[in-house]
Amino acid sequence: MFRKMVRMTKNKEKVFNEIMNSSVPLTAYEVSRALPGMSLTTVYRALDYLSKNGYIKSFSLGEFTYYYSAATHRHFFRCSKCGRLFPIEDCYMEDYEREISKRYGFEIEEHFILFSGLCQECREKLE
Ligand SMILES: [Zn+2]
Ligand SMILES: [Zn+2]
Repeated sequence: MFRKMVRMTKNKEKVFNEIMNSSVPLTAYEVSRALPGMSLTTVYRALDYLSKNGYIKSFSLGEFTYYYSAATHRHFFRCSKCGRLFPIEDCYMEDYEREISKRYGFEIEEHFILFSGLCQECREKLE
């Protein structure tokens, strides 16, 4: 574990595990759907706590906010037709980062990549 977990309640832990075990970022609604018996308010409160304490990260897309584990390094593809998110494990960013660092004098700590377009299923439906 990347950080010692202190004073995390059972609910926060459940929300955290849900996000940790998902290969793609989840919305608050998706988390609450996976945890029957937990209210959306409780889920939001847990997400807020986990974000503020660096356990998870989030990004907004359209009207939704997606949450994902801060411990994983992943790239994502989002289908613009069905809205599904897919994880992409491969990373080809090293040379690119080195180039950007050199050219702009940045010290890059991380990157977040989101591709968008049509997923395979939606592509096949078009044919
Ligand atoms: Zn699709
Ligand atoms: Zn990468």
